[in-house]
Amino acid sequence: VPVVEMQGVTKVYRSGSGARTVEVRALAGVDLTIQKGEFVALMGPSGSGKSTLMHIIGLLDTPTEGEYRLGGNSVRGLSEAQLARIRNRRIGFVFQAFFLLPRLTALQNVALPLVYRGLPPALRLERARRTLEAVGLGDRLDHLPAELSGGQKQRVAIARALVQEPDLLLADEPTGNLDSRSSEEILALFESLHQQGKTILMVTHEPDVAARAQRIVRLRDGRVVEGGRP
Ligand code: ADP
Ligand code: ADP
Repeated sequence: VPVVEMQGVTKVYRSGSGARTVEVRALAGVDLTIQKGEFVALMGPSGSGKSTLMHIIGLLDTPTEGEYRLGGNSVRGLSEAQLARIRNRRIGFVFQAFFLLPRLTALQNVALPLVYRGLPPALRLERARRTLEAVGLGDRLDHLPAELSGGQKQRVAIARALVQEPDLLLADEPTGNLDSRSSEEILALFESLHQQGKTILMVTHEPDVAARAQRIVRLRDGRVVEGGRP
């Protein structure tokens, strides 16, 4: 069963009302399959629909038309609460801007998502510690974000995304805020996670970054023009 399977996904944004209604067709019939264990880069010019597609894949939004199955299950007709629950369990998000909580240590930041799982504190911290070790930060557990380099901060954010063992890691311009050395650090980590069997979808506009993925999906005017199938 593919992790992501889309057929004819369309997204129309409507604003205004009556004769003044304005429609923007952000996605126009997207077909996309991502198999378990793939490392895929998503590219396309500004306005081509990348953010919209990532929002739909990450269950932050739903298609206007077409079918999206995550892990074989259609998202059609699910309530906001159901989408949120599936999102929290199955999707790990990584952003350009890290979004770490500044007053929490690396360990506490990574343990935070597990609070909502109802795990006891000792177990949360143990899992967070193991995940930070897995991204090479076993010696930075008690550091605050401000005490870490950009690449280290992004590794903490990746650990926070991985701690719930998601089916899919969604990374939106993960190297966009990093110098070339830190970018290399993050891309090497993604390659290593890919080798361990993780499924990763990364948006980037940098060809050198996209080239590190196993496959490049190209969007143009809301359509996949290349790489939609494994
Ligand atoms: P990208 O991430 O590739 O820049 P987006 O998905 O942000 O593309 O946008 C695709 C198109 O949809 C653009 O024309 C954009 O202006 C439009 N769009 C995106 N979000 C909205 C929204 N919430 N309301 C109206 N139009 C939107
Ligand atoms: P990015 O830098 O990722 O391309 P965008 O500029 O595409 O970000 O979008 C930023 C936010 O603004 C998104 O949440 C998107 O849905 C929204 N947005 C984008 N274009 C429009 C638009 N034309 N009208 C309303 N909201 C929009």
